[in-house]
Amino acid sequence: SGCITSAESVLITQQSHEELYKMLTFNKVTPTEQKLVVVSVSPQSRASLAAKCKMNILETAKKLTSFLKSLGVHYVFDTTFSRNFSLLESQREFVKRFQKQSEDKKALPMLASACPGWICYAEKTHGSFIIPYISTAKSPQQVMGSLIKGHFAEQQHLTPDQIYHVTVMPCYDKKLEASRPDFFSQEYQARDVDCVITTGEVLRLLEQEGISLPDVDPAPLDTMFSCIREEELTSHSGGGSGGYLEHIYKYAAKELFGIQVDTIQYKPLKNKDFQEVTLEKDGVVLLQFALAYGFRNIQNLVQKLKRGKSPYHYVEVMACPSGCLNGGGQIRVEGEASKDWLQQVEKLYESLRTEAPEENQRVDELYEQWLGGPGSARALRALHTQYHAVEKTSTGFNIKW
Ligand code: SF4
Repeated sequence: SGCITSAESVLITQQSHEELYKMLTFNKVTPTEQKLVVVSVSPQSRASLAAKCKMNILETAKKLTSFLKSLGVHYVFDTTFSRNFSLLESQREFVKRFQKQSEDKKALPMLASACPGWICYAEKTHGSFIIPYISTAKSPQQVMGSLIKGHFAEQQHLTPDQIYHVTVMPCYDKKLEASRPDFFSQEYQARDVDCVITTGEVLRLLEQEGISLPDVDPAPLDTMFSCIREEELTSHSGGGSGGYLEHIYKYAAKELFGIQVDTIQYKPLKNKDFQEVTLEKDGVVLLQFALAYGFRNIQNLVQKLKRGKSPYHYVEVMACPSGCLNGGGQIRVEGEASKDWLQQVEKLYESLRTEAPEENQRVDELYEQWLGGPGSARALRALHTQYHAVEKTSTGFNIKW
């Protein structure tokens, strides 16, 4: 993305599939100092690989698990699971902000926080103005980081630095997100996510090993931290960028106005990457939400905000046109029109049964066992983060951590 500094690009290149190789080789040659290697795969990456290999999602997941384990990976999880927490926390945060909008002028609109491309731009371009609007909920990648280096490490009787946690993401900016000092434990000198590899890099790993994914024997999926029910993977409704708008909208309609919303009517505005959803009752607008994908629409939104002309209560902001399924780290195929290709990926992504995060019993249990209930100080630390205004100086950027 355009706003990355040279120091940041070093951090990004430190995280690659080569790095993962190095760790796996280290484990083989020094078994006594072995680290536990955990890979968390995003649902967008799985859909991209499935389209490339012409397989369904479940097959892809099983074969990818098998391939990664053959390289020496110990556990393979699914970030759909951690997204449950991101969605639930975003929903609750929105309702709280809505209720205090009269005393806090920057409580609304709440802006989505899961896209590091957008966060990078917001911090560097509009720093202190925009930060108060951004939801503090961690992204699914970073919630997974908290789960693995917090809860999972404890269960395995390991310290966070004894686990090497890798995520597979549709996007290069996720590497930048994983490198943020906010997600680094000073105590253990360990990151919540040690290495991020893109979907394209997984394909390169396969190529380097001379393996074609369809030929791999499937392995059973790891059930902890995965959205699996009786051999079935589940997803969330509301599109390939996580479904934040939809989940927050439905929850808020019910909590704030007692209205049950079953289907959501999107109204495209200037283009398909800028859409609106409105809840009205007796001619009064109760909730007005929007999707703003791609920098053109983001700039437009920021200008509206600056002029005090934004009518929205919530905006799902994503840096990539068409959102995460079209992320810069996804697989591209030559000879196929990009629109058709994206449609295939979307179709696969949407082929799974969807489940509301409230319905996941394992998530409920973890709130109680791991975090001591929703809203606890522990939950706040594990599931929320902060942002930092970056001032441009004549010598570069000055970040206020
Ligand atoms: Fe990454 Fe693009 Fe998704 Fe943002 S919209 S998280 S930059 S893939």
